[in-house]
Amino acid sequence: MQIVKLGDATLPAIGVGTWHIGDNPQQRLTEIKAIRTALDHGATVIDTAEMYGMGRAEDVVKDAIAGYSREKLYIIDKVLPGNASHRQLETSLDQSLKRVGTDYFDLYLLHWRGAVPLGETVDALEAMVKKGKIRHWGVSNFDVADLHELWQLPNGKNCLANEDLYNLDERGIEFDLIPLMNNHHLPLIAYSPLAQADTISGRLTADPLLQELAANHHASVYQIMLAWTLRHGNALSIPKAATPQHALDNVKALEISLAPNELAALSKHFPSPTSKQPLATI
Ligand code: NAP
Repeated sequence: MQIVKLGDATLPAIGVGTWHIGDNPQQRLTEIKAIRTALDHGATVIDTAEMYGMGRAEDVVKDAIAGYSREKLYIIDKVLPGNASHRQLETSLDQSLKRVGTDYFDLYLLHWRGAVPLGETVDALEAMVKKGKIRHWGVSNFDVADLHELWQLPNGKNCLANEDLYNLDERGIEFDLIPLMNNHHLPLIAYSPLAQADTISGRLTADPLLQELAANHHASVYQIMLAWTLRHGNALSIPKAATPQHALDNVKALEISLAPNELAALSKHFPSPTSKQPLATI
């Protein structure tokens, strides 16, 4: 099984994304079943945020994890940039904790940078660690310059991970951000690892090479995409699945290991960038 280290936690390298979970009340039971299917087949990480459905995704997570041992789960939540101030962060965090039905998050991320000075946010996050409401904090949608700025701040190096868009279609961060993060032992949380079901460029699912690799591994193209994000052992991939079958397929991708010749062939088809790219976000 592919694993990843986030600080002192060793985790299965595929977790559960939750953006748009909870949007349709009629899908709620199926979504709960999907999350539980992932947890029952080896996933332990759940990635959610106060932004997702204005708390509705957190609310579905609460029902999904009811009955599971909290210590065995690793829950990531995110604060909106406008709430990442001394005055507001703790209130936002308390509301998220209540919606998820837990008294701590394993990791709490600044969802993206906003107008609140970064130093103020870091101080507020550190205060929440001291209070025991979060075990660790991290960032999301940070590029190279953002990380350098962060690391200059007091306690800035306590950042545990950076969550960024990363999939076979969007390799921009491989040019300078991933090497920098690797040098600093800062893990990547890869969001939208399935390129949102190939709706970004639409060129993945029909690609003959991806189809051939999928057939070789008795897998789907999506499972190959997930396995690809994990190939260096320093990333956590958080696909979102609203159906139990998708959730099961995603967790099963933990067992797929792509061979060097397969990775080389993929890099020919979907090349890594040769110059700095603007940070891709969704
Ligand atoms: P994604 O995971 O790349 O793609 C989700 C789509 O793929 C859904 O349409 C899903 O369909 C489909 N799918 C899932 N598993 C599949 C499978 N095995 N076979 C075929 N289709 C499959 O997109 P995402 O939701 O944008 O990203 C994943 C997570 O990353 C989010 O849910 C969120 O937690 C996080 N995220 C974070 C940020 C940030 O700024 N930090 C931004 C975007 C996303 P069904 O839903 O029908 O199963």
